[in-house]
Amino acid sequence: MATLTIDGHEVTVAKGTNLIEAAKQIGIEVPHYCYHPALKIVASCRMCFVEVTQEVRGKARTGLLPACNTAAADGMVVSTTSDAVKNAQGDILEFLLINHPVDCPVCDQAGECKLQDYTFEHGLRSSRMTEPKRFKPVKKLGGGIRLYTNRCILCDRCVRFLRDFVGTGELTIRNMGNANEIDIMPGHPIENPLATNIVDLCPVGALLAEDFLFKARVWNLKPMPSIDPSDSLGANTYLDVMNNEVQRTRPRENTAVNGYFMTDEGRFIYHAIRSEDRLVTPVQPDPQSDELLEAPWDAALEFIDEKMRAAGSNAIILLSTHVTQEEIAAAKDYAATIGTEKIAYIPNACVTDDQTFPGGYVIPGDKSPNTKGITQEVPSSIDDADITSESVVLVINSSVRTENISDAHVEKILGADFVFAIDVLKSPLVKHAFLSLPGRMWAEKSGTWINRDGIAQEFTPAVIGPIGSRNERDVLRDLTKRASNPRAHKAQSERVTTS
Ligand code: SF4
Repeated sequence: MATLTIDGHEVTVAKGTNLIEAAKQIGIEVPHYCYHPALKIVASCRMCFVEVTQEVRGKARTGLLPACNTAAADGMVVSTTSDAVKNAQGDILEFLLINHPVDCPVCDQAGECKLQDYTFEHGLRSSRMTEPKRFKPVKKLGGGIRLYTNRCILCDRCVRFLRDFVGTGELTIRNMGNANEIDIMPGHPIENPLATNIVDLCPVGALLAEDFLFKARVWNLKPMPSIDPSDSLGANTYLDVMNNEVQRTRPRENTAVNGYFMTDEGRFIYHAIRSEDRLVTPVQPDPQSDELLEAPWDAALEFIDEKMRAAGSNAIILLSTHVTQEEIAAAKDYAATIGTEKIAYIPNACVTDDQTFPGGYVIPGDKSPNTKGITQEVPSSIDDADITSESVVLVINSSVRTENISDAHVEKILGADFVFAIDVLKSPLVKHAFLSLPGRMWAEKSGTWINRDGIAQEFTPAVIGPIGSRNERDVLRDLTKRASNPRAHKAQSERVTTS
């Protein structure tokens, strides 16, 4: 351990901790651009200069050192606010702004730009630049990422992330001196499943995702903490919401789960929430065509309740690996109420090999968020279930992917006398089930998933679900209530027919 003083406050940190992290532990932010805790240290931007007094060969010496590349040592006295530090920060900012365009009113990064923030906090000087600013065109780098070259401050984070963390190295700095610029190798666009993390890493508005381009000003977004539903890692995320719509997804730091990053698949899966294939009302397939006909909620519930209750021990409840722990508990209550022990899970059909990156990030091959949780709670799978023409099956699916139940399992399920589904998209099962009810996407409800490492992670609603959809847990509770007291729940069933 090393005990040092930063801005008059004593702090004890692990040996080897750099001064940016040491200061962070006592709530002091040292401004920086090129430094990022997940990347190799290059100490190139010099924005993190601090004034350090330490004993060198028996003599106390004071000087400016980059905090990112200076390890905390016993007895060190550090100032982050001395005149020398303020002058250095002002000089660096003046230098970085020489060619930086005054794009803030049209730049997507405005409001979360470190150049804006630090200029406001530490700049305080006007530009002495009288020459015209350098101009460079906007480039499409691949992976839905654009480089606004004029705005780049050459911190090199994007290059190091792709080279050292992802291992694909699509970006490089080309040309010399004033002509330095970020670029791809000709004919080799950015193409890797973690690519869009460079947009979050870029401290200015140089790298922007086309998905979010000119969609919203960031100060109008409400960041809602959530969990990535696209795989079994359960990356922690923010869903940035405006007008009850998710506008973008960003990774949320959790060193025990996803570190600082997330996959592009998880980042863009929010588009499923507003998919044209969204199920927003109870439906029944039209026997005369491929169309899905709307059915009234109450009649649909009444019909399902009657059939499931009548089936008794022939009723089977199947749960996808997407359902939450709370929905599993509600499904078990319902099974107990109607007197069946037949409850099983449906293994996810979307499984590939795990993908491990040099930086240690692993994209799981299991593309569902609660495989661990459901296999702990529900030991038997659909493969053990005996589905016959006497069976009445209720499937709770609610997956963000329509292909999560294999064709073989859909076929097996459709062997039952009646099949009912609760789902969020018009999946193959919904197209063939006798009756389907619209559930809620993860962003529209609360719940808990257990990730592949056994970490239970709760999430809460970020947006209100479509009118007509209902939380799966509430639907199961409603069915349980109806089954416990059938007479109290008599309703008309004019649109639900057995033809
Ligand atoms: Fe840094 Fe952004 Fe320039 Fe890359 S594009 S070097 S992350 S400022």
